[in-house]
Amino acid sequence: MLNHSMQAWCVLVMTLTFGPVMHASAQDASHSLSFEQCITNIQQTALESGIDAKYVDAALGDVRKIDKVLEYDRNQPEFVQTFPAYLNKRVTDWRIAKGKEMLKKHNALLAQLTQKYGIPAHYLVSFWGLETNFGSYKGKMPIIDSLATLACDPRRSRFFTQELLIAIRLMERESLTKTKMQGSWAGAMGHTQFMPSAYINYAVDGDGDGKVDLWDSEEDALTSAANFLNQLGWQSGFRWGREVTIPNEFDYAYAGKDRTKTLAQWSALGIKKVDDSSLSDTDLSASLILPTGASGPAFLVYANFDVIMRWNNSESYALAVGYLADRIVGKPQWYKALPDLPNYPISDMVSLQEGLNYLGFDVGKADGIIGPATRAGIRSFQLANNMVADGYPMQSVFDAIQREVQKRIAIDEQAQVGQRVKSEI
Ligand code: CA
Repeated sequence: MLNHSMQAWCVLVMTLTFGPVMHASAQDASHSLSFEQCITNIQQTALESGIDAKYVDAALGDVRKIDKVLEYDRNQPEFVQTFPAYLNKRVTDWRIAKGKEMLKKHNALLAQLTQKYGIPAHYLVSFWGLETNFGSYKGKMPIIDSLATLACDPRRSRFFTQELLIAIRLMERESLTKTKMQGSWAGAMGHTQFMPSAYINYAVDGDGDGKVDLWDSEEDALTSAANFLNQLGWQSGFRWGREVTIPNEFDYAYAGKDRTKTLAQWSALGIKKVDDSSLSDTDLSASLILPTGASGPAFLVYANFDVIMRWNNSESYALAVGYLADRIVGKPQWYKALPDLPNYPISDMVSLQEGLNYLGFDVGKADGIIGPATRAGIRSFQLANNMVADGYPMQSVFDAIQREVQKRIAIDEQAQVGQRVKSEI
């Protein structure tokens, strides 16, 4: 997607701005315990917290470290995944069709859940489809061993030690065997991929057999998802958000999940529904998000979008849940097509950030992650160069930054030559 001269100027920018690359020493194992010592400590904590010794032993007696889990945990992505690539993998024709089927199959239960918890059926089915393909892929990693591996690794030890202790408590409460507790390498379990803390706090018995089983009971899983969303603050009677159109002259600095306005205010700024009708003139709070910048569809998202993000803290995930839910109940494709944006190497994003820093648009450390500072830097660059200032790194932005950097390098080299001539006179 990006041309190769980008690499060349990146190297140049690196040497100009940073000098020789520094290598930080990451070797400090003096405080880390061996796996066995770490497990002994966790065993002790589990017993002290009152978990039956029988279950502590069943969980940790033959526990083993899984190197593969650490590999997954360390695995750095090589590519920036763009929103179209993310969405197209998740909201597929197969999932929409299967979702419709599931909506029919579980019609009676889903209607009860909507009645009791306020969550519409199509959202429950959408979460289920996105998490595990409606239960067809729940993960096969041993949960206790995986969590123990992460708990005894320094990177996120505190979090995973808590999850491991809760997982053992869960074994005790539900009389679970270690063999039954399978899931993702990071500890998510069952049809809805609940972490142990979500399982123990929010999962409920939906089929009335006295057990809470997220692996083998679809009723338990769907009821648990409904209860979880209800507890996370789902507002009954509201949707996740909607696609909207924005006027030609628009200040894209208004966009972003953290900036809210009322529907009446958005309406006053020229935002409309995609059928060109007006938004309702209310004080309902909403944020404008543009997952692919000004060139793609725009969305106003409401409070329930935040609820979805409390399940999984990702705007792309929340859009996928909302869109799949809509498609399952027969709503059409988005009005504005997603631009064709393939994934691209992280190194290209690092180069872009270095270019912005070199040009004086401070985006902080060039880490390849598109956070708020990078978006703000791109927006400032776009404003300074008479481009649509949406803060989104389209190819045209990459190209323009590259051009400006080359110009600036030429000027800087000229200045150095002038300096040398001066000193020689
Ligand atoms: Ca049950």
